[in-house]
Amino acid sequence: MSGVSQRIEAISESATMAITVKAKELRAAGHEVIGYGAGEPDFPTPDSIVEAAVVAARDPAMHKYTPAPGLPELRKAVAAKTLRDSGYDVDASHVMITNGGKQAVYATLQCLIDPGDEVLLPSPYWVTYPAAVGLADGVTVPIETDSAAGFKVTVDQLEAARTPWTKLLIFVSPSNPTGAVYTATEVKAIGRWAAENGIWVMTDEIYEHLVYGDAEFSSMPVEVPDLRDHCVVVNGVAKTYAMTGWRVGWMIAPAEVIGGASKLQSHSTSNVSNVAQAAAIAAVSGTLDDVAMMRQAFDRRRQIMFRMLDETQGVSCIEPHGAFYCFPSMHGVLGRELAGTIPTTTLELAALCLEEAGVAFVPGEAFGAPGYARFSYSIAEDDLVTGLTRLQKFLA
Ligand code: PMP
Repeated sequence: MSGVSQRIEAISESATMAITVKAKELRAAGHEVIGYGAGEPDFPTPDSIVEAAVVAARDPAMHKYTPAPGLPELRKAVAAKTLRDSGYDVDASHVMITNGGKQAVYATLQCLIDPGDEVLLPSPYWVTYPAAVGLADGVTVPIETDSAAGFKVTVDQLEAARTPWTKLLIFVSPSNPTGAVYTATEVKAIGRWAAENGIWVMTDEIYEHLVYGDAEFSSMPVEVPDLRDHCVVVNGVAKTYAMTGWRVGWMIAPAEVIGGASKLQSHSTSNVSNVAQAAAIAAVSGTLDDVAMMRQAFDRRRQIMFRMLDETQGVSCIEPHGAFYCFPSMHGVLGRELAGTIPTTTLELAALCLEEAGVAFVPGEAFGAPGYARFSYSIAEDDLVTGLTRLQKFLA
């Protein structure tokens, strides 16, 4: 009999991590693998941010415990940055610093969800959301969207899924895994629906600065001020400042939720590393010049990738407008013979492409969307083209 709790047995390891590990193993064994699995910028953290951490590491005050909800200076800096970037005017006391946006997601669900509460989750979804709902004993209610709908959920779909037990909607724009960006009008309509029905919204703004072409980021509590008291904003430095390894994120929420999340944090992780928080102060207080440079590079790769994917036999890809992912349909490839086998699922197809073509992508099953695949364009342009050319030949 396993000694591990049912709660932990019920969750599976992050599939995006698993594909990255498999690709690394193959590489270590001498195979040439091009990996499109990464959910992180391929750039180093800007120097000025790293320097702030070096200075902090030498400051004895930083060697001690600090307040659980975060360094007061960082909470203030996040409030100021939020007003600057999205126009959301919040007090520093409504900001709690977490170990990455991921911990903010976990804390939000722990604070808001009672056993049996229903959480509406548009699919395809980021793998961590349903896991965090499960860990809070909530019930995930997936709402399917497809490429024809631009992977965007509508108010009608949300209304059809609403029950007396609906507590929370999880919303993310720009989206991981689809790259979809909702317009301000769409954000407003969804926010109004939530406010009118007393439904909480956790809105994940981690990709706010990674939008391309005509797409614009809109923050739900700014579009719908009435939602403020029922809204948690999740964000962090990971994607904007190429700081995934530093582990600094935050949640912005009403006082009762921040109070609850601080209690939880005080018993689970205490404060986030002070050195990383000092780096985050430099990041959010600095300019957005580095992210503008990264956005430009991502934009170029985005255009190359979605065209090359769409030109690949059996693959069709709509243009993504945000984050750094393409989310093509692979339906036209399934059921065809490839290297002597006939893959019928994207899980099988991903394994085959990795072994036979040395190309690693994340199968749609990981995002509740079998038949699709996620390709990250956060890799060097040469590699990006080489791998996609190999994929085109393999699927020809
Ligand atoms: N939200 C979304 C949609 C993400 O894709 C990620 C990272 N994959 C996060 C939150 C969390 O990022 P981090 O914990 O590194 O801040």
